[in-house]
Formats: sequence, structure tokens, C-alpha cells
Amino acid sequence: MHDRRVQDQETGNAAPERRAASAESAAETEAVVFVCITCEAPLTGPLTRLPAVPELPYYAWWDAEEPGPSPPTVPSGRYAIETEPYGAPLVVSEVSVEAMPRYGPISDGHGRYFVSRGPRGNIVINPDDAHGLEYHHASSACCGAAPTGGLNQRCACGTLVATLCSDCCCPYELHLSADHVRAVLP
Ligand SMILES: [Zn+2]
Ligand SMILES: [Zn+2]
Repeated sequence: MHDRRVQDQETGNAAPERRAASAESAAETEAVVFVCITCEAPLTGPLTRLPAVPELPYYAWWDAEEPGPSPPTVPSGRYAIETEPYGAPLVVSEVSVEAMPRYGPISDGHGRYFVSRGPRGNIVINPDDAHGLEYHHASSACCGAAPTGGLNQRCACGTLVATLCSDCCCPYELHLSADHVRAVLP
């Protein structure tokens, strides 16, 4: 915030719409911590909101020397709300569509595709910003976690709270379930 203002003064081109955008984001930049709805354990550090989930960073996972997670979709210290359905259940689609945002299509090889009818409103964060979560196997993946089976991250209290997507060919994202976490002021 401070940096941006300084930059505007230096360049001298603080356009009115740019000021408006800054004021808007000021309301959104209040940091929150996400806690488990059941036991109140903090699951993240303080995070500030992005206006939307960023575009998927380009990453040639097929050229990577070692399999592993892609670069995170959401930068560290931030979160964004996913407006589209995400994760399980998947339903059959006759047309080739992305199964869920940034994931690409899932086909059975016989002309049938699968598309998410999961919940909307997930809180998307950098998986490295989460703590205290335990992987709970929900669907198969080669070296990480896949979101196709739904919630696969358990709080220490046993409540499933999030869906991790971390396989080498997938976006690197953690989706906190809006129904299983809540935001508190740090
Ligand atoms: Zn808990
Ligand atoms: Zn893999």
C-alpha cells in the first residue's frame, strides 16, 4: 500500500481510476487468519485477499527434472475466493470442458468428460501457507494430492477442512472449505 503510493508520487500519474482501485483494495487488505470451524485451531498465518484467483502460472511440468508441485497459483500471504464449483462430486459431461478451474479436462477416453459439481466459494491459498493439516487420502495421484475425490486435508481435531491439489501435472493450490473454516482477525 505504502509502496504503491510512493510510486504514484514519483511517476506523477495517479490516475483517478487507479486511486479508486487502491481505495477499494484497502478495504480488502485487512489480514485474516483462517481457523477450523470445529476446534478453532489456526490453519494459516495472516492472509490478505486478492480480488480474484490469479491466472495459472505457466509451468512445463513435463520438462521438470523431478516430479513435484508446480509454482503456487496464489502467492504466499494472500488468499482468493474461487467462484466456480471445485472438487467432488464430478458429473458426466458430453462436451470437453475443464473439470474445474485451472485443472484441464478429465476424460474416460470414450468421449465422456467429468465436470465438478462441488461447492463454490472455496478459499484458495498457497499450500505452503497452511499448517497443522494432515493428508487424508481421497483420490489417486502420482506424486501429490488430487482434488477429484474432494476434501483431503484434516485438521488435528479430525475435521476435514480443505482440498489439496499438489500433483506434478496440476495447479499447486490449497482450497479451504468455506463450510469448514472461518476467518478471524489475527
Ligand atoms: Zn479442528
Ligand atoms: Zn505427479
